[in-house]
Amino acid sequence: MEDCIFCQIARGQMDSELIYEDELVIAFRDIDPQAPTHILIVPRHHITNLDAATDKNVQLLGHVALVAAQIARQEGITAGGYRLVTNVGPDAGQSVPHLHFHLLGGRPMQWPPG
Ligand code: 5GP
Ligand code: ZN
Repeated sequence: MEDCIFCQIARGQMDSELIYEDELVIAFRDIDPQAPTHILIVPRHHITNLDAATDKNVQLLGHVALVAAQIARQEGITAGGYRLVTNVGPDAGQSVPHLHFHLLGGRPMQWPPG
């Protein structure tokens, strides 16, 4: 059993502001929000990052995208627009080694990111 911080949140062993959950994923507010809406969508199963995903995770990855769109509608950020981001490794600034997707919205954002 993995014991990283997001595994602990997924098991309910650590507090989070839960937004959504089902059998495959949980979603909760980021502890250090970078936008008015900043939600993390996290597979329950421990996968280090996208580089560790395989063909077995195809359904999960599609599910994450649709859950993100659903949460964005709930959050009221669809008209303004939003971003779904996953960081992989040090150059991208991945700080938690458990696959997660940032849903960011509620303010204009720059592109390309810094
Ligand atoms: P990364 O930098 O790995 O792409 O993103 C990790 C994110 O997890 C960061 O935005 C950070 O603020 C968030 N985070 C780290 N620890 C916790 C925590 O214990 N609870 C919550 N809700 N977010 C966390
Ligand atoms: Zn984990």
